[in-house]
Amino acid sequence: MTRTYKIIVFSGDGVGKEVVPETVKILKSARDVVTGFNLEFTEFPCGGKHYLETGKEWPDEAWDACKNSDAILFGAIGWPGAVKSGGVLAGVDILLGLRFGLDLYANLRPAKLFEGIESRVLDKSSKDVDFVVVRENTEGLYAPIRGALNRGGIEELAVDVRVITRKGAERIIRYAFNLCMRRGGAPRDGKRRVSCVDKSNVLDGCRLFRKIYDEIAKGYEEIERDYVYVDAMTQWMIRAPEHYDVVVTSNFQGDIISDLSAVLIGGMGVAPSANIGEKYGMFEPVHGSAPDIAGQQKANPIGSILSGKMMLEWLALKHSDKACKRAAQRIEEAVSKVLIEGNIRTPDLCYGKYAGLSPSKTQEVGDAILRKIEK
Ligand code: ATP
Repeated sequence: MTRTYKIIVFSGDGVGKEVVPETVKILKSARDVVTGFNLEFTEFPCGGKHYLETGKEWPDEAWDACKNSDAILFGAIGWPGAVKSGGVLAGVDILLGLRFGLDLYANLRPAKLFEGIESRVLDKSSKDVDFVVVRENTEGLYAPIRGALNRGGIEELAVDVRVITRKGAERIIRYAFNLCMRRGGAPRDGKRRVSCVDKSNVLDGCRLFRKIYDEIAKGYEEIERDYVYVDAMTQWMIRAPEHYDVVVTSNFQGDIISDLSAVLIGGMGVAPSANIGEKYGMFEPVHGSAPDIAGQQKANPIGSILSGKMMLEWLALKHSDKACKRAAQRIEEAVSKVLIEGNIRTPDLCYGKYAGLSPSKTQEVGDAILRKIEK
């Protein structure tokens, strides 16, 4: 029986409106070429611009649609001037609301350098960089436990509480170990390795996180244990990315090191991500709405397209759906072929030996990937 997956689409603001349509185009093409599964897309407006036009961040029915979906595809939110009372960027509550409301506790940010992209870090090639940052997504420093003290009109104090719970740490660390079992090991030595990134020499929350890491690691004898302090990690990722396979860490620390990992693979334009819980999954490029290049067809759609590929991989795993898995592989191969051929690329990838190329438009990159899928 052909299974139909209900996909909710939010292009959102800025470049989201350019990269998400390319992603939907690619997903439809992979679905039609591979066959054996179906994708049904429903799009809702949302974000800062929508807030300026309507006074709402998204339509009332969008939340229920998300709760009845099989997966959510997200673009980006944030638009200059679109700010709610209290100074909060309009649209941010959607993203955080989905992450917390749907309990999307695992934020996966793969750092895989494709052949055909030069690393912005010297002397590293596609053979050196292929790891995944598994970032806790529902607690840590982004748990909404914060406040400010205003005395006599003077902003005197602000507090953000960093929350690490046993439940939160256990499930993210277990997720990382299970993911590691499905991968082929670190580029340097082929060893399966889960690196625990923390600041346990200073912070109690990190000490609890590391203790739970040790408890869970006992159940995975074939996986090597590895410990790194987060400050040291920023240099090891650059100096020896080939050592890393799966990296697990708490929310704020993961936010920072995963942005750094995007530099290793060619920049924000090509970095995908997934937000995964027990029941729901939301897939989005790492980049934001990029108002500086929005509306000009300069945005690289590959980060978003690879997020769509991650969506298919997740659906395949969740529903044991081989057709979905084949479609995901087909998308990855198509992206890889376009990058290796090299002549069609957006401005962000026209550096190094590609510096003299005339840059392609967002849509042209999408079309080139589409042609490879259909071949
Ligand atoms: P946020 O806080 O929402 O992540 P931001 O303003 O910090 O947003 P981005 O919107 O991701 O960050 O933009 C950071 C830089 O990366 C900008 O210079 C932008 O032009 C560039 N950028 C972002 N997305 C893309 C893309 N898809 N292709 C090419 N460049 C991009």
